Amino acid sequence: MNEFEVKSICKELDIRLTKSKGQNFLVSESVRDEIIQAAELDKDDLVLEIGPGLGALTEELVKRAKRVVAVELDKKLYGYLKAKKLENLELVQGDVLHLLYPSVPHLFPKGEWTPPLTKGRRYDKVVANLPYQITSHVLRMMLEKNVAGELIVMVQKEVGERIAAKQGKMSVLSVMAQYYSEPQILFNVAGGNFWPVPKVDSVVVKLKVKSSPPISSVKSSRSLKADQPKAEKLKVNNEIFFKLVRAGFSAKRKMLKNNLGGIYGMEKVKQALREIGLGEKVRAQELSVQQWINFYAQLGK
Ligand code: SAM
Repeated sequence: MNEFEVKSICKELDIRLTKSKGQNFLVSESVRDEIIQAAELDKDDLVLEIGPGLGALTEELVKRAKRVVAVELDKKLYGYLKAKKLENLELVQGDVLHLLYPSVPHLFPKGEWTPPLTKGRRYDKVVANLPYQITSHVLRMMLEKNVAGELIVMVQKEVGERIAAKQGKMSVLSVMAQYYSEPQILFNVAGGNFWPVPKVDSVVVKLKVKSSPPISSVKSSRSLKADQPKAEKLKVNNEIFFKLVRAGFSAKRKMLKNNLGGIYGMEKVKQALREIGLGEKVRAQELSVQQWINFYAQLGK
């Protein structure tokens, strides 16, 4: 669908695009094809699309996947897509945030057909050009709720860079994305590939959700005594872990010890940092996910 077609459909349906819904439609077939290729769909895939809009991605997804569930907030866009009667598509009208949380099951297609569960996951893939206002929120929910095995999503460039950031530039979003998944920026998409043209560029990222939970590599005191240092298999409590991470980032310019000293005790924080080989002056953005996990394990000792 090119820019003129998108404009004329919006006019015909009297769709007033709103910024609050992040309605910038993809008008480039080559970018669409690149996204579809990146999703590496196969005929067994159960796919969730968030914000199908006028169906730029949807029409290709339904041809390649076993089943597509698409959630659209805008009633007019929903009506437009519904009228297309695309085979293989379960269209849901609503806010994906409400549907995903707290009741993911609402997203399940009703009726005879039951979606196959893959290793306890509900969808194989999420493929979406995400509405930018809800990007971080929806990503967090999808990762926390283990909604899919892989997320192939278009996000604002700056958000994509935060998702895949390295030590020194980490944020709560980076820790979260890299704790649950292995994110990778696939390619850039310039604003001119959308209508209306957004002010910022985008990137397509792939997040491969980790199949096993991260563990700490902090050595247990018992194995040290036995002169057999080995990694202690510590099951991380996600909720407590992210409370620690959020507290660590509460004042970005401050050293980690100053953000956390009041909560866990200054001495304990300093000692935990020493034990995992970090200096006292370290800041939250300098820790890798593994260092956060080790720090969490050390603080919990
Ligand atoms: N997939 C289409 C495309 O690539 O051209 C549209 C992408 S547009 C960036 C985002 C879409 O998400 C819009 O259709 C918008 O109406 C929809 N949307 C916005 N907020 C939403 C929400 N909370 N839940 C579901 N859909 C939403």
